[in-house]
Amino acid sequence: MPVDQILRGLKRFQKKVYPKHRELFRKLALQQRPTALFITCADSRIDPCLLTQTKPGELFLSRVIGNIVPRYPESIGGVSATIEYAVGVLGVSDVIVCGHTDCGVMKGVLNPEALKPLASVSAWLEHAEPARLAVEKSRGVLSDADFLLALTERNVVEQIGNLRTHPSVAARLEKGSLKLHGWVYHIGKGIVTTYNTRLERFVRVRTVKPRKSKPRTRA
Ligand SMILES: [Zn+2]
Repeated sequence: MPVDQILRGLKRFQKKVYPKHRELFRKLALQQRPTALFITCADSRIDPCLLTQTKPGELFLSRVIGNIVPRYPESIGGVSATIEYAVGVLGVSDVIVCGHTDCGVMKGVLNPEALKPLASVSAWLEHAEPARLAVEKSRGVLSDADFLLALTERNVVEQIGNLRTHPSVAARLEKGSLKLHGWVYHIGKGIVTTYNTRLERFVRVRTVKPRKSKPRTRA
């Protein structure tokens, strides 16, 4: 069944969506110029283009469980190659690391015994261990839900730190031509909080400007 549903979606795309955006797809067939690298969890509930209302060609995506970025040169592989290509070749101006609420991977970090039979997952989650250690002291102080959120947020901050160890990222930061952003997507609320380096905490992104008060009219 599920693949039939996927194929029906493909048919609908070809019949209705593609013709509407034919010019865009023709341009994209020849080149891409994404503005940002978006690194997020592989979780099926995250749709980066839906969340940011971006079109095909605007976001370069790296999707991996736990939105983890191994420190360079540890675990050189798909994630590090994607970063190097996006930052060094495509020249994106921004990198966003986006964690999310109810992340199964973050729950796994808190319960590593349950993951022992999964050798690859367990090894991968080692990269989130510094985040766990950083928040460990608040375990038992915070409610379980708040502790999971604290770990999720800290993990984003740690992965941004790891990003800085990649030579392509470090070179662009040195030039001042790259910005790094830490996000947490709150799935049930449809909101995003972003890491404020000055406040050292996550704050809600205000996407709508407050209304200007009407200028006073003279009597
Ligand atoms: Zn996740």
